[in-house]
Amino acid sequence: MSSEPRDPWSDLPGWLVILSGPSGVGKSTIARRLLERMAGRLTASISVTTRPPRGGERPGIDYVFVTPDQFQAMKGDLLESATVHGHEYGTPAQPARQAMSEGRCVLLVIDVQGGLQVMSKISRTVSIFVEPPSLEELETRLKTRRTEDEAALARRLTNARAELAIKNQYHYQVINDDLDRTVEELASILSRCGSSQGTTR
Ligand code: ADP
Ligand code: 5GP
Repeated sequence: MSSEPRDPWSDLPGWLVILSGPSGVGKSTIARRLLERMAGRLTASISVTTRPPRGGERPGIDYVFVTPDQFQAMKGDLLESATVHGHEYGTPAQPARQAMSEGRCVLLVIDVQGGLQVMSKISRTVSIFVEPPSLEELETRLKTRRTEDEAALARRLTNARAELAIKNQYHYQVINDDLDRTVEELASILSRCGSSQGTTR
């Protein structure tokens, strides 16, 4: 019988917090609020992507923007990766591991493919799926954000249905109706983060 732990990160004191949900549901907005509120206890993972930057996005802070060749070269350093809406995305492993080893929670705002990969590899995860109140409301939010053209918007709405089908594989499902209420609910779920070095499940 092997004496190896189930995963190599199982002894680290921190947790990986996986936040998934359809595009436009409010993940980035919720993440910003949680990171402010839980500063020092919750750290953002900065993903690598081949998607071009949107206006106002800061390279190295919102994402690390790379070419497809650069992404391929980095693949061995990623905890998970996936093609989402036609672009490559991935989570660098080392910064997440470092923050967990310091007892912090690490927030991964990633798609369901990546979320399932992380859950299958790492035991110290808390996974939260954010749902829209309705698909109509999701479309309204995406249109209000005005960051996608018609084709990209249609693709994101089609993908939303497939993503919603996976929500029950997450530990928690939270409907983002009222933003303040949603943030309260998530902060309560994440009360285990950083409250002591040896938090328990
Ligand atoms: P995601 O990161 O999931 O793609 P965003 O955080 O960019 O989504 O949010 C999409 C849009 O919806 C933004 O314009 C944001 O301000 C808005 N939004 C987020 N949460 C709510 C909410 N609870 N009610 C109404 N609008 C919201
Ligand atoms: P956006 O392009 O709107 O910023 O993100 C599109 C989708 O990619 C969202 O569902 C977002 O959560 C997901 N995403 C962002 N970073 C990563 C990552 O590192 N890995 C995976 N698998 N998905 C990601």
